[in-house]
Formats: sequence, C-alpha cells, structure tokens
Amino acid sequence: MFDYDVIFIGAGPGGYVGAIRTAQLGLKTACVEARETLGGTCLNVGCIPSKALLHGSEKFAEAANGTLARYGVKLGKVELDLGALQTDKADAVKGLTGGIEFLFKKNKVDWLKGYGTFKDAHTVTVAGKDYTAKEVVIATGSSVTPLPGVEVDNDKGVIVDSTGALALSKVPDHLVVIGGGVIGLEMGSVWKRLGARVTVVEFLDQLLPGMDGDVRKEAAKIFKKQGLELKLGTKVTSATVKGKKATLTVEPAKGGASETIEADCVLVAIGRRPHTEGLGLEKIGLEVNARGQIETGHDFRTKVDGVRAIGDVIPGPMLAHKAEDEGIAVAEYIATGVGIVNHDVIPGVVYTNPEFAGVGLTEEQAREKGEIKVGKFPMMANSRAKTNHEPDGFVKVIADAKTDKVLGVWAIATVAGTMIAEAALAMEFGATSEDIAYTCHAHPTHSEATKEAAMAVTGKPIHI
Ligand code: FAD
Ligand code: NAD
Repeated sequence: MFDYDVIFIGAGPGGYVGAIRTAQLGLKTACVEARETLGGTCLNVGCIPSKALLHGSEKFAEAANGTLARYGVKLGKVELDLGALQTDKADAVKGLTGGIEFLFKKNKVDWLKGYGTFKDAHTVTVAGKDYTAKEVVIATGSSVTPLPGVEVDNDKGVIVDSTGALALSKVPDHLVVIGGGVIGLEMGSVWKRLGARVTVVEFLDQLLPGMDGDVRKEAAKIFKKQGLELKLGTKVTSATVKGKKATLTVEPAKGGASETIEADCVLVAIGRRPHTEGLGLEKIGLEVNARGQIETGHDFRTKVDGVRAIGDVIPGPMLAHKAEDEGIAVAEYIATGVGIVNHDVIPGVVYTNPEFAGVGLTEEQAREKGEIKVGKFPMMANSRAKTNHEPDGFVKVIADAKTDKVLGVWAIATVAGTMIAEAALAMEFGATSEDIAYTCHAHPTHSEATKEAAMAVTGKPIHI
C-alpha cells in the first residue's frame, strides 16, 4: 500500500549509506536529494574536497619550503598552479559522488531528485509529486552557522564560509579565520601552505574545543610554530567590506579595547547547525530541541510514528563516520529490529599536519568520573617519526585506575587519523592498557607510540 518500504531524505553519508544498506536488506528504498550530485556535504563541499586541498597543498609546501631538498630532491623555481589543484579537487569529488550514483543503481535505490517536504508522516512531496513509505528517515544534515554582522558572500569571495574557502580562485594575501575549530584549522592550513598570511580569531582561550586539554595546548604551540597567527580569547564584533577588502573589529572575549584587522579574505567557521528548513516538520508535529536538533531514541525513532532521523541533524558529533554508522544501524533496526552504534567510541580527527585525533574521554572528563592512570609517549622518541623528521606530538592513553580499562586515547602525529583506529577497536573490545601494551606492533611504525603510551600507563615505556 506504500510506494516504498523506506524513504531517506538527504543523500549525505547518513542517508546514502542507510539507503544502500536498507536495499541490501531487501526493502524497497528511495533517497531524496536536492543537490545535483549525491554524497551530501561530506563528498561535495566537506570531507573530500577539503582533504584533496590539504593533500595537494602539503605537496606544494614540501616542494616550496625546502622539505624535499633534505632528501636530495632538487627542484627549480617552485610555482603554484592553483587551477590544477582545484581541478584535482573537482576530480576527486566527481569520482566519488558519481560512485554513489553507481552504487544506488547497483543496489536498486531510487534517487528522487528535488527538495523533500513532509505532507504527512508517511508522504514526502518531491518536485510536486507525492511518494509514500512505511518509514521515512530524515538525514538532512547540517549547514553553516551564520555570525550576525559578518555576512557571508561566497560569490564575492571576501567573506566566505567553508564552501567558499574550498573554491578560492586566488591565494589571499591575508586570510582571517573566525573560529579555531576543525574547519578553521584545516582550511587555514591549506591557504597558509599555499602562501597566505593566516590569522585565526578564536573566542575561547584554546583551539579545538571538545578535544583533550593537553592536545589543545599542544595544538596552539604547533600552529604558532607553523606561522599561523592566533588570537585566542578574542571575538569579532563587526565586519565591513569595501571592494575586495574586509575590515574586522575584534575585542577580547571578556571585554576590553577593540582593534581592527584588515583582510582580503575572511572565513567564517564557527560551527554548523542542523538543517531542517523547508522540511515541513510542523506538518507532522515534530519539534526540534533548543539546538535545532531532532531528538531520537536509541533506534533513531522520533516522537512521530514511522519517522526516524540520523546524522548531523540529531545530537552527537557532526562527523561523516558517525552519520554512516547511524545509516547502517537505522537500516538494520528497520529491517531486523536490531542495530548497533557505540556512541562512546566515535573517533575524531583534524587532518592538518600533524593530525590531531582522539577517541573516548578526554583526561578532564575521565578525571571527573573517577580515578585514572595516564600514559604518554612523545613522537620525538618514536623511531619512525624521528627518521621522517616528524617530531611533533604524542600519544596519550587514559585508563581506569582500578580496572585498567582504556577510557580514551589521544594522538598528535602525522598519521594520527590512521593510528586512532587501533584505539577505537581496542576500546570497542573493552581492552585494558595492558592489552595494548602486550600487542605486538610492527617496527618501525608511528603506531608503536600507542603501545609505548599504553606501557607508560603502568610506568614502563622502553624508549623514554
Ligand atoms: P549531509 O552530508 O549534510 O547531507 C545531507 C544532504 O541532505 C545534503 O546533500 C542536502 O542537500 C540534503 N538535503 C537537506 N534537506 C533536504 C531536503 N529537504 N530534501 C532533499 N535533500 C535535502 N566529517 C568527517 O567525519 N571528516 C571530515 O574530514 C570532515 N570534513 C568536513 C569538512 C568540511 C568543510 C565540512 C563542512 C564538514 C566536514 N565534515 C567532516 C562533516 C561531515 O561533512 C558531516 O558530518 C556529514 O556530511 C554529515 O552527514 P549527513 O548525512 O548527516 O548530512
Ligand atoms: P567547530 O565547532 O569545530 O569550531 C568552531 C569554533 O569557533 C570553536 O572553537 C568556537 O569556540 C569558535 N567560535 C564560535 N563562535 C565564535 C565567534 N563568534 N568568534 C570566534 N570564534 C567563535 O566548528 P567548525 O570548525 O565550523 O566545523 C563544523 C563541524 O564540521 C564540526 O562539528 C566538525 O565536526 C565538522 N568537521 C569535521 C571535520 C573533521 O572531522 N576533520 C572537518 C571539518 C568539519
């Protein structure tokens, strides 16, 4: 009696993964997406294009700043072809978004092209046509949080959001980033490596809120060393644009004398907010919480029968892999009644150089909950990092003082994003620090630092 068993609204990592899994489980599935391409924020204007620019800009910096010369790679004059870098980024996006279209066809997921609006809890209107489903999953993601008084205009390219910062056609002389979070530091690093002067204005006293205190302190040191100018504990009170220049007025967050900063590009990166505009939630009697999020139970059911929600639009970290895991789980809940996402073990990574990564509790959170032991090992003492001239960072393992169970792991290392997977797996299996310490790690790898940090929990690392 319904057109579909399940309709997903939104084809980001939550919606597209959920739709594929639902179809794999034998249910008739459709996915509504308003963009021209599938993959959502992540594949189109998020994770993938930002990583393409981070990778390409690192290659440029290695060539331009003499890093390669150390290894005997002799180069002539190093010049940037920004157009070529942007083309490489576009190719990565095209390949991956096209790949999702292929997977939809392969798994017989119907792509309903257009903006989806609820008519009732089981009916979604797309491009003037009604489609019914037994279950509807909202996976509409998030959009940029605006900063009052600092108007974003990506077309002009003077005050931009992350989408604009991914598409600049020229390296700015001076880029001011408002917000020292993940986007600010990743995009700030890209443009710094390509030659811009970069100033980061952060409201709080430290960068990267949500990460472990030691990691945040070290982040400030590392980014300063790399030449980013940090204005911590500072707020932007206004911005004016004249031609191709912006003037920002800033003052200490706690109040005090103001000053102005001139910039030829300003990136507003103060967070993202759930995207529910135009969805017609009022028509199905579904309200959002004070943060604009849709609240759900463990099985992603909302208060409205037949309507579930996943990804950035619900509470929790706004991360692609969290959305993907929720996509798989919601499909399995719908098809079988059982699904699994362990929200206590969701890694987070900042893909700068070095990378900053963590999973589980910060030291501060763990101390609040009870007695803990902490083991730390510097990357400077890791043979592979030392050989590669990558001295910055450390690994920190936080364990329960009584049970030795690992509660959190934090890493700063060039490959911390890859290293953190081991920690997540260990925590998923309820490992103790001793379990990690007695697991054989290949030599010479950066991951040995995780083993040594685990050994340090009981005070017995070898190489320091
Ligand atoms: P989204 O990816 O936002 O997808 C939602 C989709 O729904 C969109 O395509 C939208 O067009 C569509 N939509 C919305 N409403 C409707 C409607 N009514 N009808 C039809 N379609 C609709 N996360 C990471 O884990 N790693 C990273 O490296 C990373 N880098 C990022 C870099 C940047 C610059 C940004 C902005 C974000 C980054 N993120 C990263 C976050 C990540 O992109 C999000 O957490 C993830 O995309 C959330 O997935 P989602 O499926 O919930 O929503
Ligand atoms: P964020 O929450 O990471 O950082 C925003 C920063 O802006 C915070 O440090 C906050 O204190 C600061 N801030 C807020 N208001 C301010 C103001 N008025 N003036 C100055 N500073 C202010 O948000 P983001 O960097 O915009 O990223 C948005 C989301 O996208 C994040 O939730 C993140 O998880 C996701 N993302 C993830 C990745 C990744 O996983 N590598 C990369 C990019 C984005």
